[in-house]
Amino acid sequence: MQAGNVFTDAIERLVRIGQEAGIQPEVIDALRQPKATHSAALPVRMDDGRTQYFQAYRCRYNDAIGPAKGGIRYHPGVTLEEVQALALWMTIKCSVVGLPYGGGKGGVIVDPKKLSRLELERLSRAYMRAMADFVGPDIDIPAPDVYTNARIMGWMADEYQAIKRAKAPGVITGKPVELGGSLGRDEATGRGAFVVIQAYAQRKGLDPTETTVAVQGFGNAGYHVARLLQGAGYRVVAVSDSKGGIYSAKGFDIDSLYHTKQESRQLKGVYCEGGICELVDHQKISNEELLELDVDILVPAALEGVITSKNVDRIKARTIAEVANGPLESAADGPLHERGITVLPDVLTNAGGVTVSYFEWVQNRQGYPWTLDEVRGRLADVMNAAFDAIWAYREEHGVSTRAAAYAVSLKRIANAISMQGTQEYFNAD
Ligand code: NAD
Repeated sequence: MQAGNVFTDAIERLVRIGQEAGIQPEVIDALRQPKATHSAALPVRMDDGRTQYFQAYRCRYNDAIGPAKGGIRYHPGVTLEEVQALALWMTIKCSVVGLPYGGGKGGVIVDPKKLSRLELERLSRAYMRAMADFVGPDIDIPAPDVYTNARIMGWMADEYQAIKRAKAPGVITGKPVELGGSLGRDEATGRGAFVVIQAYAQRKGLDPTETTVAVQGFGNAGYHVARLLQGAGYRVVAVSDSKGGIYSAKGFDIDSLYHTKQESRQLKGVYCEGGICELVDHQKISNEELLELDVDILVPAALEGVITSKNVDRIKARTIAEVANGPLESAADGPLHERGITVLPDVLTNAGGVTVSYFEWVQNRQGYPWTLDEVRGRLADVMNAAFDAIWAYREEHGVSTRAAAYAVSLKRIANAISMQGTQEYFNAD
């Protein structure tokens, strides 16, 4: 998808599903544009002494239900429209899982792989200096996203607290555990997706040992979901990263792949070197080929817009579990639904990350950390409850799983907006 179209596409989908679900037009109108967006040019002192400027954004999309919540992305392809689309999806997602949050998102146009560690720290601190009056534990709470991680969240939390001259760990989530992060946050997105896929497999009577899976994107989200699925007996036959993918009909041992990738920094390193190649036959494939594999479950876990009107007819998977945000262009929704391909939508499937971010924020406010078992148990409860509500709506109304998720979510947001006052509310007797 062209980067500039992603927000328009997200709005088209919102309006279509909102109208079908009978959401008040005034509420849909309220969600057509972000409440506020802040942009800034971040000055960063580079190691060679130059000052380089990086364009940065933070979008507070909607906060009817609670403070905005959403990650910060570092990527050369970041655009304002992409940040706004991601912030809209966060608004819907937080409501899907019933969190007391609205939605937000941030991004910086940067290729972080080209920065030294110290440049990355200066960039991250500069981001927080620029945004410190726009975020806060009761206003908008950032978190990690693509190419940002716990260390970066730690630098940002530290910078915010230096500016405010007070401890405020609840300003950001996904921090290192030593700085107030939650146990289980690193695996949360993958684990939440795993819970959803398991709940779905149970409804469908799928036997994990006879179910094949392909995962696009072997980062935080993709690795953990692949690892947990393999642990439950699923056969993960393909994985990929930005450099390409690998396929094996016998399935991969995910932890061996992960450790080899950690050593070589890319999946390419496992093509023909190291223990994994001796353990299992594999074939090199492209990211496009991975998407078109004949597998039971396809898990896009990298970037948005990878399944479009152009390749949708070549998709052979029976189920798509959207672990990335927005991997399907809205034009692909109809053709997949007509072919009976179930899409477990991003706003449900990857909501485990924000759910454990919420747990982290609660722990920070209570000053009382939870055990890993508590985090995992509560995460499973939240994800199963959301899945059950969406599945019930889908069965009752005969709509797609995405339409059901949007309907459940939008009704909650609509109720909050109505309580703040709509035309209907003021005209009532
Ligand atoms: P990450 O930076 O840890 O990993 C991204 C992965 O995608 C890497 O393996 C990278 O090599 C791969 N990749 C990048 N470009 C690619 C391309 N063109 N083709 C194939 N692979 C490519 O990021 P992440 O946190 O795992 O996020 C991945 C997706 O999951 C994003 O859409 C993100 O918004 C979504 N998500 C993440 C979280 C979270 O908590 N981390 C939560 C919800 C949603």
